[in-house]
Amino acid sequence: MPIGPGSTIGVIGGGQLARMMAIEARRAGYRIAILDPDPTGPAGQLADLRIEGAWDDVGPAQELARASDVVTIDTEHVPADLLEAVSAHAPVRPSAAVLRAVQDRRAQRRFLAENRLPQVRHALLSRPADLPAAVERVGFPALLKTSRGGYDGRGQVRVAAAEDLPKAWKEIGEAPAVLETFVPFAKEISVLLARTEAGEIRFHPIAENVHRHQILRTTSVPAEIPSELVARAEEIGRRIATALGHVGMMAVELFVTNDGELLVNEIAPRVHNSGHFTFGACATSQFEQHLRAICGLPLGETLLLRPAVMLNLLGDLWRPGPPDWTAVLRHPSAHLHLYGKKRPFPGRKMGHVLVLADTVEEARRTAETIAIDLEGLDESRREGPPGSGT
Ligand code: AMP
Repeated sequence: MPIGPGSTIGVIGGGQLARMMAIEARRAGYRIAILDPDPTGPAGQLADLRIEGAWDDVGPAQELARASDVVTIDTEHVPADLLEAVSAHAPVRPSAAVLRAVQDRRAQRRFLAENRLPQVRHALLSRPADLPAAVERVGFPALLKTSRGGYDGRGQVRVAAAEDLPKAWKEIGEAPAVLETFVPFAKEISVLLARTEAGEIRFHPIAENVHRHQILRTTSVPAEIPSELVARAEEIGRRIATALGHVGMMAVELFVTNDGELLVNEIAPRVHNSGHFTFGACATSQFEQHLRAICGLPLGETLLLRPAVMLNLLGDLWRPGPPDWTAVLRHPSAHLHLYGKKRPFPGRKMGHVLVLADTVEEARRTAETIAIDLEGLDESRREGPPGSGT
């Protein structure tokens, strides 16, 4: 039986992803319940029911589930055991098993290897004694990434030579980790897909992503890649979602190498920052699609309505007050999304701008103008246009 309008969707986590789910849920007549340590955060502000509690606290999570017809997540760092406990009270999508397979980087790498999916050369580390063999396998330059809890470049250290390793190991907290080859990729893309319980899969357009300091800076669509690569990337996404038995939206981040090879960087079993463009540029947003999938409804059309560029707005733009929004609002083709976060800090995702245009070049030009105006810097002091370098 599909879970229809009037039902309550419970979300563990109350950040911007849950906020945009809440907007779409309310539009379609659903109620939304949010569990978050700060119930007045981005999603709590729009919720019908707010439950205060940490994501790893079983009591509040069970309270959420008892009040909900279906429970989902806005971060994959919710402990799998907690999801398991919650599933006694309401269906949980994605399942605890999906989170178990992906929330630990080492488990994710093992899952990819077992399923013969192409990925970055890497070695799994549990203790310092594992380092020499890892170096032997991976070489330099490399990236040392913690197994758990890292995001937006946190918990990642670049390692150029063997003598940097002990310091890098300390920096990531001397915890289990993955050492990866630093890939000199040609492009970064993401596959955005939704899968239903019955196994139906729909893809949104492939997104082309540019990171700066390991944080997503821009997403452009359509991605400027050959259709043969689109087909290969989608096939990788399909195999991952099917092998996991995933239900809901999923993003698979991939590197495109100079030889046109695809390597999986990361799997996110949820709506994703690189899919924000769908909210305004596609017939069905990733947030609506996620709700359709977890509620057992047919998936929506994913058609791209217009070429688009999404520009992330980080806390660095607040100095300390917000930038002058006329830089965005004066463009009829630009749409401002702000997440209602009270405390800006450098690197924190505070909002984004979506620019729609006739061509992706035109959208990119407008996004660049907006970025320059928001940063309030003259061109000589800038690091490069949005979208250049990581
Ligand atoms: P992650 O948190 O693992 O998705 O990493 C964030 C960003 O850092 C990626 O989107 C890339 O731009 C960069 N990055 C991560 N891993 C690698 C790698 N092995 N080689 C090159 N760049 C990487």
